[in-house]
Amino acid sequence: MRHFDLHCDTLSRCVKGKRSILQNEYDISVERGLIFDQWVQVFAAFIDDDHRGVKAYRHFLAQAEKLQQAFEESDKIVPYDKDNVREGVCNAILSVENGAALGGKLERIEEFARMGVRMLGLVWNGENELAGGVGSEIGLTGFGREAVKELERNRIIIDVSHLNRAGFWELCEVAERPFVATHSNCFEICPHLRNLDDLQIEEIIRRKGLIGINFFPLFINGESDASFQELRRHIRRIIALGGEDCLAVGSDFDGAAMPARLTAIEKIPDWHQNLLKHFEPELVEKITFGNAQRFFQENL
Ligand SMILES: [Zn+2]
Repeated sequence: MRHFDLHCDTLSRCVKGKRSILQNEYDISVERGLIFDQWVQVFAAFIDDDHRGVKAYRHFLAQAEKLQQAFEESDKIVPYDKDNVREGVCNAILSVENGAALGGKLERIEEFARMGVRMLGLVWNGENELAGGVGSEIGLTGFGREAVKELERNRIIIDVSHLNRAGFWELCEVAERPFVATHSNCFEICPHLRNLDDLQIEEIIRRKGLIGINFFPLFINGESDASFQELRRHIRRIIALGGEDCLAVGSDFDGAAMPARLTAIEKIPDWHQNLLKHFEPELVEKITFGNAQRFFQENL
């Protein structure tokens, strides 16, 4: 069984709680995740909307260093290599959730790429130097447009999950490379602003991007718990819109309260088993690993 997860907040939780990524009681620990034949995990460095300038940048640094430390301490977690996904370890990708981490400086993008950042969400829910999140009305700023070009030049993939509708469509005017929504579901099934409407889903599909299905019940059915069946409705809608090759997983582990049946990484095999009861094995493989792996091979 293979598992490729486009988003978790475990890294920031470990920094805040002074715990290890390798061993902890959170939704993801490296030790508890060593149950897959191959496992790729994106770890987001999350920056709260309160942080700006050098403070935001330092929050990013603390999280990037935490991941680097884990690489040095253990051979069970390694930096992801798109051409050599290793077995029996955590293949880790560093991402940024909130472009405030740039501290308003374009030159930080090249530095981030050198430090291993492979994906960056332009915003969180509020506003920053680049754009507005789902709690804001503003679209891309001039700096945001420059940042998009610079991110693409450095092969850092753009994540639109928290971006509002205005920013999404303005990004489409500027972006030349495929982008992803790492942890968002379908608005037509669950009308939360963090979810994508059909036009957005179709646009991501047209651009050969990725959509990571989010396990947070609030984005599945608007309630505090959700079933596998309700999660499958989002998968079915994206497939109905032509997104079979764009579907992926963006758990949101350690960033949101999880459903009773999917509380932590060790429950992922139960979900895979459930998917296999309802979809062809080839499709399950695409959703849980294959699509994301192909995307990163093509776009990193
Ligand atoms: Zn998020």
